[in-house]
Amino acid sequence: MKSTDIRSSFLDFFRERGHRPQPSAPLVPQKDPTLLFTNAGMVPFKSYFLGAEKPPAKRAVSVQKCLRVSGKHNDLENVGPSPRHQTFFEMMGNFSFGDYFKEDAIRFAWELVTQVWKIPVEHLFATVYEEDDEAYDLWVKLSDLPAERIHRCGKKDNFWAMGETGPCGPCSEIFADVHRHLPKVPFDEGGESGRYVEIWNLVFMQYDRDEQGNLNPLPNPSIDTGAGLERVSSVLQGVESNYDTDLFRPILHAAAELAGVSYGKEEDKDTSLRVIADHLRAVCFLLADGVIPGNEGRGYVLRRILRRAVRHGMRLGFEEPFLYKLVPVLGEVMGAAYLELVETRQASMATIRAEEEKFLSTVANGARQVQSEIERLRRDGEDMLPGTMVFRLYDTYGLPLEVIREIAEEERFRIDEAGFNEALRGQREQARKATQEVQNRMAALGEVVRGHADLAETRFEGYERTELPGAEVVRLATWRDGAPERVSTLMEGQAGVVILDETVFYAESGGEVGDTGTILWDGGRARVVDTQKDAAGVIFHFVEVEQGQLSRHARVQLRVDHDARLAIQRNHTTTHLLHAALRQVLGKSVRQAGSLVAADRLRFDFTYHRGMFRAEQEQTEDLVNEWIRRAVGTEIVQRTYQEAVAAGAMALFGEKYGERVRTVNVPGFSLELCGGCHVRNTGEIGLFMIESERGVASGVRRIEAVTGTYALEEIRRQRAAYAELTQRLGIRTGDYDQQLQKAEQLRLRQSELEQEMKRLRMQLVSGASAASDEESVVEGIRIVAREVPPAPANELRDMADTLRSKLGSGVVVIGTRSDGNVSLVAAVSKDLTARVKAGDLVKRLSAIVGGGGGGRPDFAQAGGKDPEKLPTALAAVQDAVREQLAR
Ligand code: ATP
Ligand code: MG
Repeated sequence: MKSTDIRSSFLDFFRERGHRPQPSAPLVPQKDPTLLFTNAGMVPFKSYFLGAEKPPAKRAVSVQKCLRVSGKHNDLENVGPSPRHQTFFEMMGNFSFGDYFKEDAIRFAWELVTQVWKIPVEHLFATVYEEDDEAYDLWVKLSDLPAERIHRCGKKDNFWAMGETGPCGPCSEIFADVHRHLPKVPFDEGGESGRYVEIWNLVFMQYDRDEQGNLNPLPNPSIDTGAGLERVSSVLQGVESNYDTDLFRPILHAAAELAGVSYGKEEDKDTSLRVIADHLRAVCFLLADGVIPGNEGRGYVLRRILRRAVRHGMRLGFEEPFLYKLVPVLGEVMGAAYLELVETRQASMATIRAEEEKFLSTVANGARQVQSEIERLRRDGEDMLPGTMVFRLYDTYGLPLEVIREIAEEERFRIDEAGFNEALRGQREQARKATQEVQNRMAALGEVVRGHADLAETRFEGYERTELPGAEVVRLATWRDGAPERVSTLMEGQAGVVILDETVFYAESGGEVGDTGTILWDGGRARVVDTQKDAAGVIFHFVEVEQGQLSRHARVQLRVDHDARLAIQRNHTTTHLLHAALRQVLGKSVRQAGSLVAADRLRFDFTYHRGMFRAEQEQTEDLVNEWIRRAVGTEIVQRTYQEAVAAGAMALFGEKYGERVRTVNVPGFSLELCGGCHVRNTGEIGLFMIESERGVASGVRRIEAVTGTYALEEIRRQRAAYAELTQRLGIRTGDYDQQLQKAEQLRLRQSELEQEMKRLRMQLVSGASAASDEESVVEGIRIVAREVPPAPANELRDMADTLRSKLGSGVVVIGTRSDGNVSLVAAVSKDLTARVKAGDLVKRLSAIVGGGGGGRPDFAQAGGKDPEKLPTALAAVQDAVREQLAR
């Protein structure tokens, strides 16, 4: 059975049994900020199990992308050695939200495993939690398993909990033998050796654990199951390892071929090939879900996985980027099931390649550092790299410990790992303290302003209007010595925070800035300078009281700055148009990576692997402007997430789903999930103009643009600057071409003049008859000491050279001053350098002008900061020469 068929057989089986199929959620959890990556099939459904949200159906089935590289589930180190672990894998699961329970869960699983997948019963085992007699009896009743192949196991493997508190319960696992031709061994032994492989875990969520650790029965127990696609594939395809299935073989072979080795010959090489194949999948799926390599959070994890793959590549002998070349093979294996892989293929290849290049050069540089440190230490009779030095190499050069270790080993050097770990711990502790502090401060603000969690979400009424005749002040706060403080009145002149029962001020979110405007009341007025909201939806109006005083429970009138809001709306709708246009012009691999929607400009970050050509920028501009000119009405509709996605809405990260979502539609062109403020008709935007396009991170581009009156203003500014420019250059007449021609003529004329000036300056210096104070003779040596007109450094050198050749034999010192600086050049003819040294000469003279310098015996230069001392310095030349002769 092919893995593709296994996926669909699972979905079909449960669909036929009343389960609603759910597409895989992204690897970046949409609803759970505490979790770095989706690591099980139940993650997207967590709020249903917790009872926080009502599920759209009581039964669901999914094949969920999972990543286990951090936190409670971390299989990173298992990858390579283990035949049944990957970092990225697909978890097939069926779910009951308070509907069916143990009996059906076991019956379904058994039926699928033995009748659809047809795994022979003699190769199967089941485990239950040691105290779960109910499950044990059900296995006896429902399956054909003999009692000796149903095992009772302890808490560690067979009791599941979502967290310290909350839903938990016993679980039951199905194991299969992957070495069927060998004689059976006891279950413990087979489990230990990896021969009996856990393929499916059925979790019976039956309790709610409280703070005291009591297990309270849940009124409606639930089911959560997980079967790894790769493990099931290995069993059904009769191979002994996940890596021998059709999901991995093409990738392993492509990697082996690139490296010029073959898979299955040497254990070391096989391990590296497996790591590369696994990490390739993890990296590509992360990129496809919008994670960007970086130095913190998810981006850092992605970068680490990628670098680990490169390190294994280095072991196989790769010296150049190679991982990106494997991306197309992965597309062939998994692209049909995961369209996002295909859509992002180009961009992913470019990003991976850039990361590889960067890392390879880091390693090369770092390795040289290590080498030179080792040489230095060896000269001092040492044979160990100190921990602090290892940490510096690791921390500032980004060199992996493993690489340092390898180089040290080759050089027969030891490294002080204990010292390294000490330094690492110290740094982590510091970082932890710093983030803790920031979090504490934010929590303090929220708590003081909101007064614990007793405030309801502020009602937002501002989509359709920008004024509200009456709202009530619910809470007030101000700052004292930088710390927030709750107050009952804000005085005239005071700055603070106002919370209302309802508002028309939009709080910053989704890239759109917060509204500004005015709050009015009987006898007073406050200016709203910013609007923000917290996670609970309480909206904070940041104000300055301009007149009167504002008290709690006052009735106030709200007025958003209407012009600013209109401008923001233009830019927000334009952001959607731009997103859609970019996907048309550059292709579907374009994804929004961030945005800023302000009144005066918009900024749009998106994933793309190279800079845009001018023609592409113009095409994008044209397309957006075309949709503006079409003057289409925008449609804003609330619908369920499923409906929205089915209609083709572009969902962005961080957007919630499962509940009702707001969709913004420009019919025929753009459909996005969005909570922001928009124009009613695209015609209101007027005009769209891209100001710049550039890279901001590897694989991420940024467009800055303006619309409406701001675009018009920008054009005017450019026109004025252009007029001013042509006027100053005296080329006011004619059309653009003529003016450009004239400008070019001016440029040519200027460089001609510069050349001419240079020639004249040289002539002036060399041809000038020497005034007596400039030329003298000391003990038969001719000396010229002269101030010359300001000239660039290279020209000064030429002048000194010319003067020296003119003298034939002698000493030349020239100096010049400009902009508060002095430059000195000394030249001594070859026949005299044994007696007079130019270097020593300028050293002595530059001290007089408050500077320093030096050079060769025949030629030297120096600078100084005392222009008025230049004549003194030049007058001292004779004495300086005399001193040197006297030595
Ligand atoms: P194991 O003990 O073998 O690491 P687990 O107990 O961590 O597995 P569960 O959390 O119960 O696994 O996940 C459910 C199913 O997902 C497992 O039965 C297995 O089929 C699959 N699975 C879990 N971890 C991995 C992994 N790292 N790679 C591939 N499949 C996995
Ligand atoms: Mg398990």
